[in-house]
Amino acid sequence: MIAIAGWLTSVFNTFWAVMGPHHNAPADGFWPYIGGSFVNMARSYFWFLLFGMVIYQLFIRRRGERLSLWAGLKHLLPASVYQTRSVRIDLLMVPIAWLDNFLLFAGLAVGSGVVQLWLVQQFGHSVLQVPAGVLAVTLQIIFTLLGTDLARFAWHLQGHKIAFFWEFHKGHHSAEALHPVFIRTHPVDMFIRTLYMDLGGGLVGGGLMFLLGVDASPTAAGLLVIIGTCFHFMQQFEHSHVKFSFGDRLDRIFYPPHFHQIHHSALLEHRDKNLGLTGGLCLWDKLAGTLYIPKPGEKVIFGASLEELGDNNPHRTLWRFLSRPFVEAARTLAQGSPVHPDAKDGEELPNTR
Ligand SMILES: [Zn+2]
Ligand SMILES: [Zn+2]
Repeated sequence: MIAIAGWLTSVFNTFWAVMGPHHNAPADGFWPYIGGSFVNMARSYFWFLLFGMVIYQLFIRRRGERLSLWAGLKHLLPASVYQTRSVRIDLLMVPIAWLDNFLLFAGLAVGSGVVQLWLVQQFGHSVLQVPAGVLAVTLQIIFTLLGTDLARFAWHLQGHKIAFFWEFHKGHHSAEALHPVFIRTHPVDMFIRTLYMDLGGGLVGGGLMFLLGVDASPTAAGLLVIIGTCFHFMQQFEHSHVKFSFGDRLDRIFYPPHFHQIHHSALLEHRDKNLGLTGGLCLWDKLAGTLYIPKPGEKVIFGASLEELGDNNPHRTLWRFLSRPFVEAARTLAQGSPVHPDAKDGEELPNTR
């Protein structure tokens, strides 16, 4: 029995060493970082296929249809998605995104634990003190996730509501096919998001830990890596046609991947809705009035707006995707309309959406 358990453990460890997410830091050097980014992308795609297959066989397969790996693969890898011009731009953006990450984002990751330690060094301990143990570890995890979730929501709300920032975020929405390899994100938008999440998230989470007297612990940091990995695998489904739901009740509390498909819809009723992130809370969307619960079987067309699809897509080439936002963002400043006006039903807004 012990021998079997030991064998299973070593099989799992070998499997995880090959397929699990790996540490990948710009400090390792340029080529190791680029190589690591590629390997991590391939691994993420493997997990999408594995979990996607389970979801297909359990929830999507029609009644009476026999179990078939081939049918599952055909559902998960539709040729109609991968043959589009939209996907070509996404793939061309992959090396640019890696280069971006390597050059710009190395020094920005500030965890909540680091912030908490720094605040204690500067100001001493708060009057409150949670003793080291399960409660402190749990609170550190909750505060860290809360900080990142809130910071990311703030970046996203800004990207949708303020005309200048929308022009850079719009590139992500101009994708007309969703797939889990990589959906284009403009480098400027990526940079702002990283600032919010890695700096802002750390400050919020670490600030809460400091105020309530929760000391940073390596146990919580280790658990956060595991939780982050699980979230990452689920987030793969946000940019796909596969509906990944936590069930009706939980979907109202924790943002599920399929809400993000509504977020990418070109239809007017879905505009600027569901700004949260998988694994985070729906609360922020509720508070901002941007929560949209999809109806059963509700269909969407992916894109920035119905008027900007196909040949009318302002980002129909890589060059336009990269350059147009600068022109349009400058125009919003010149027009002196910093606030992105809310679209009225049925009315198309010039230069915005
Ligand atoms: Zn968005
Ligand atoms: Zn998206």
